[in-house]
Amino acid sequence: MQELLAFQLFVPNYRYGEVVPLDPTCLFCKIIEGEIPADIVFRNENVVAFNDIAPQAPTHVLIIPTLHVENGAELAKASPTITAELFKVAEQLSNEGGLGGYRTVFNTGAEAGQSVFHAHMHLLGGRALAWPPG
Ligand code: AMP
Repeated sequence: MQELLAFQLFVPNYRYGEVVPLDPTCLFCKIIEGEIPADIVFRNENVVAFNDIAPQAPTHVLIIPTLHVENGAELAKASPTITAELFKVAEQLSNEGGLGGYRTVFNTGAEAGQSVFHAHMHLLGGRALAWPPG
């Protein structure tokens, strides 16, 4: 699949093959559009990052594509470039926050704990993180 053009990312219900860039029923699309407030810590054309409303660590940021796809695997198929950008933003926020280390997590599917079906990377840090996770 080719990359979406910038204007296509911000047209609700625009169909690009199987992809709807913005889904008006999606909580995270509403955050991208500013319809629902969030504590946004990073934004560019492809990526938005905001503090999780129920933080599980001193740093808990959600890093999401502006493209509406259901999970990380779908994002990788739609755009390896934007998938890589999420990791770059995680690294940048970690450096800015002075984190000694951090964890990135994609929950994929309800059984794995996914509750919002717009791809999102959890960036967790600021405390020692146990392994294995629950
Ligand atoms: P997951 O369970 O992996 O789908 O992650 C969804 C995350 O979204 C959870 O950690 C929630 O706390 C977080 N969340 C839900 N609603 C909001 C919101 N309005 N603003 C920020 N984070 C939210």
